[in-house]
Amino acid sequence: MGGCLYVVSGPSGAGKSTIIDRVRRRVKGLGFSVSHTTRRPRGAEQDGVEYHFVARGRFEEMIEQGAFVEWARVYEDYYGTSLEEIQSKTSQGLDVIMDLDIQGAAGIRSRIEESVLIFVLPPSRDALASRLRERGTDEPSVVEARMEKAAEEIAFCSRYDYLIVNERLEQAVEEVAAVILAERCRTARSLPGVVSRFPAAGAAQPLPRE
Ligand code: ADP
Ligand code: 5GP
Repeated sequence: MGGCLYVVSGPSGAGKSTIIDRVRRRVKGLGFSVSHTTRRPRGAEQDGVEYHFVARGRFEEMIEQGAFVEWARVYEDYYGTSLEEIQSKTSQGLDVIMDLDIQGAAGIRSRIEESVLIFVLPPSRDALASRLRERGTDEPSVVEARMEKAAEEIAFCSRYDYLIVNERLEQAVEEVAAVILAERCRTARSLPGVVSRFPAAGAAQPLPRE
């Protein structure tokens, strides 16, 4: 599929969208996978930017057509990543960053083994609650439901390749950017390009890890 896929998960309010926006401004060559959802736009969200907002009927049609690499029901709505969305980014030579729940991360890993899974945690339960309240985009009952779900989601963080605690935003952004830059330097990813310049670079086998 070309570019590398970076999946960011974490409880609602942990700071995923804020971090992804800033990382994209800092790291070149990173496209955002715009998911489809049946939920309504929140605050200043725009169709085609944060999400493709679609009716339930349209979403179900896309499931039937096999349009999604993964999809899940989260809270009361459907969310899904279309193959078209990933391919349109990777065909431009971009790596792709996506904001998915834990089911979505598992779905991507099972389809694309070399995908990189990053989990964002809030510094504490209280901090999460106040971020959700201060964001001001959800009713108190919705905030309550999201707090309950947070504990369930955090129980899955050990499945992920990287854990980022978003206490100071700037540090969290730097850490996610560092993960991406380091992953790009992995020998498995960068060796083909090096061998094309220095054919001898492909001669040796990796040293075994004891
Ligand atoms: P998510 O995408 O995980 O649901 P958001 O990116 O919408 O979370 O962040 C939730 C709220 O917390 C937003 O109002 C955001 O500005 C704020 N926020 C994000 N990171 C931090 C941080 N490190 N410290 C304080 N507030 C933060
Ligand atoms: P929100 O409504 O706060 O934007 O997102 C709710 C949850 O849905 C978050 O956990 C987010 O990561 C997840 N999500 C967003 N898009 C997708 C998607 O395409 N697939 C899956 N599985 N989860 C998604």
